[in-house]
Amino acid sequence: MDNDSKDLANSNTDTDKVVLSNEEWKKILSPEVYHVAREKGTERPWTSKYEDSKEIGTYYCAVCGNALFESDTKFESGCGWPSFYKPISKGSVIYANDTAYGMKRTEVMCGKCNSHLGHVFEDGPPPTGLRYCINGVVLDFEKAKEAEEKYNAEQKEK
Ligand SMILES: [Zn+2]
Repeated sequence: MDNDSKDLANSNTDTDKVVLSNEEWKKILSPEVYHVAREKGTERPWTSKYEDSKEIGTYYCAVCGNALFESDTKFESGCGWPSFYKPISKGSVIYANDTAYGMKRTEVMCGKCNSHLGHVFEDGPPPTGLRYCINGVVLDFEKAKEAEEKYNAEQKEK
């Protein structure tokens, strides 16, 4: 998130909706992120560095910085994509019916910038029984320790 051109859309604290045209998104996002986030693409399975990551921290929307999932709700689904059983809060993601490819699925999007994240299925573990199958390319991970250090540093500056 140290890229200047991204700052306009990317913020961890601002909870206002981010609305940009696809032309504008194209300038800000990498082709891989744009394809998944704005064209509802799917990354190839087993390609995400987050797929088998067990690090403690928070997963953010790589497009706008909205907090999406905590690492303690991540589980090994074996499906090839990072999987979670619960979003960080009710409003952090939004849902839509997806009938593409002749399948009935529920699409998961970022609650702040409406970027496509993945799908949710009802074959997850307790307590929710849900499996949020998320494209790693649209996730940004921050280790809990680094987040804490950053917070402390910011407090000192004030
Ligand atoms: Zn977002």
